[in-house]
Amino acid sequence: MSSVATIDAGRKAVSKYGTSFYFIAQAAQIAPACRILPVNTADVSEILNVVRETGTTFAVKAGGHCSYPSGTNAENGITIDLSRLKDIKISDNRKSVTVGAGCRFGEVYRELEAHGLGCVGGRVSSVGVSGLTLGGGISFFSTERGLACDNVVSYELVIANGQVLSVTKVSHPDLFWGMRGAGITFGIVTSFELKTFDLGEIWGGSSTFAHENETAVLEAFDKFVHADQDPLAEAFLVVADMAKDGNSVYTMVLSHSNPQSDTSVFNDFKNLTPLASSTQTRTLTNFCDELDSRNESGFRYRTNSLSVKCHLTTLKEIAAIHEECVHLLKDCDGFVPTLLYQPLLGAMLPKDDVSNALGIKPEDTPLIVIALLWKWTDIQHDKLISQVADQFVEKVEKATRAYGTFHRYQYLNYAANYQDVYGGYGEENRKRLLEIRAKYDPEGLMSILRPGIIQLSGQQEM
Ligand SMILES: Cc1cc2nc3c(=O)[nH]c(=O)nc-3n(C[C@H](O)[C@H](O)[C@H](O)COP(=O)(O)OP(=O)(O)OC[C@H]3O[C@@H](n4cnc5c(N)ncnc54)[C@H](O)[C@@H]3O)c2cc1C
Repeated sequence: MSSVATIDAGRKAVSKYGTSFYFIAQAAQIAPACRILPVNTADVSEILNVVRETGTTFAVKAGGHCSYPSGTNAENGITIDLSRLKDIKISDNRKSVTVGAGCRFGEVYRELEAHGLGCVGGRVSSVGVSGLTLGGGISFFSTERGLACDNVVSYELVIANGQVLSVTKVSHPDLFWGMRGAGITFGIVTSFELKTFDLGEIWGGSSTFAHENETAVLEAFDKFVHADQDPLAEAFLVVADMAKDGNSVYTMVLSHSNPQSDTSVFNDFKNLTPLASSTQTRTLTNFCDELDSRNESGFRYRTNSLSVKCHLTTLKEIAAIHEECVHLLKDCDGFVPTLLYQPLLGAMLPKDDVSNALGIKPEDTPLIVIALLWKWTDIQHDKLISQVADQFVEKVEKATRAYGTFHRYQYLNYAANYQDVYGGYGEENRKRLLEIRAKYDPEGLMSILRPGIIQLSGQQEM
C-alpha cells in the first residue's frame, strides 16, 4: 500500500481545508484508531480488503461536510480520508471532467473556469464533490441541467470485495441508477466523471431583507418557485433568527447563469430594499468563495431535513414554528439558528432515461427542501438544542400533514443520522436499492462495517 496514515494538507488542497477539516465540531472530536489517506484506487481496494478480512469498522471522509458526526469519522475504527485523491482531468472533447473523490467543488470550478467550462455542483467552494454528488446535489444550474447526481457519466467504485468497477449507464445499469441518491452505500467512489458545459461569468449574490419584509419575501419566493419560468434562474432562501427574538432576517441567494440576459424574473425581490446585497456579475468561483466565507465551520451543529410541497401558507407556518422553537433556546449563548428553503422543481428531475433513486415524481413538485442548520459552541447546550430540534420537526410534520403539503422525501445531505432517508425515497425504491446492494455486497459489509452512516436498511438511533 502506498498510502501513509499521517495527517497532511494534501496536494492542491484549499489551504484552510487540510485533511483534518470537518465542518461540524462533533465530527472533529471523534477519535478513530487510525486515519488512512489513500493516494490511489489500488490503495482504497487494499484498505477494503483489510477491513473486510479483519472485520474492522470504518468511515469514509471526502470534503468533511457531513451533517452528522458519525458519517465521516469512525470512533475506534479506521477513517479512510480521501483528501489526497485530487486529480482533475478535462476530457479532450471538453464534455466531461474526471475528478478525484477528494476534490472540493471550488478546486474543480477553478480548473474548469480556466477552460471556459463549468459543471453541476455545490454552491459553496469547500463542499466536497463526493458527498454532495452521491447524495443528490442542488446546484446553481439544476433547473437547467438537473441535480449533480444526474450529471455523472461514470464512477470508479471500489466495492466490498475490493474489486474496482467502472460504473456507467451501460456497464452496470442497476448500480448506476442506485448511485444517484444512494451512492454512499455501495462502496467507496475514488473518482467521478462529471458532465461539463460552456460557462462564462454568471450573475448572482445574496440579498438580505429585514423581518418586516418576511411576508413579501415569502410571497416572492413562492411565486418564483411556482412560475418556474427561466431555467437559468435559481433562488433559495436562508432564514436566520440571530437575535432569537422572533425577528428573523431573510436572505435570498439568487443566481442567473447568463448575466447578459434579462433578470426580471427576480423583480419581486429586486423591488424590496435589502439590508445588504452582493448581487453582481462574477465568476462562479468568486460567488462560491463568497458563500464559503459566510459558512463557518468548527461549530457544534444539529441538522434535519424535510420536504414540503411549495405552498405559501405552509412556508409561513414553518417560519413561525422555527421562530417559536428558537425562542425556547434564547438563553443558549452562542446559538445561531438558520433554516434553508431550497426549491426542488420538476425541471430538476432527471432529464435522461435512467431516472434516479430519490423517488420524486413530477406531480410531487415543486417541492421545498427544508434544512434545519442550528449551530452553537457550548457542549452543555447539546441536549436541549437537540430536544427542541426534534420538537421543530414534529410540529412541522404535524402542520404540513394537516395542510396536505407533507412530502416523504428527506434530502440525505442535510439529514440527521436517525432519519429514515431511504424510506423517504419510497418503498419500491428502497427495495430496489436493497436488491442492488445484495448483488454487489452480498454480506452487507458496507453497512455492517460502516455503522456510522445513515443506513439503507432502515432507521438508526441517534
Ligand atoms: C457549508 C455547506 C454548504 C453546502 N452547500 C450545498 C449545496 O450547494 N448543494 C447541496 O446539494 N448540498 C450542499 N450542502 C450539503 C452537502 O451536499 C453535504 O454536506 C455533503 O455530504 C458534502 O459532501 P462532502 O464530501 O463535503 O462530505 P463528507 O462529510 O466527506 O461526506 C458525506 C458522506 O458521504 C460519504 N462519502 C464521501 N465520499 C465518499 C466516497 N467517495 N465514496 C463513498 N462514500 C463517500 C461519507 O462517508 C459521508 O457519509 C452543503 C453543506 C454545507 C455544510
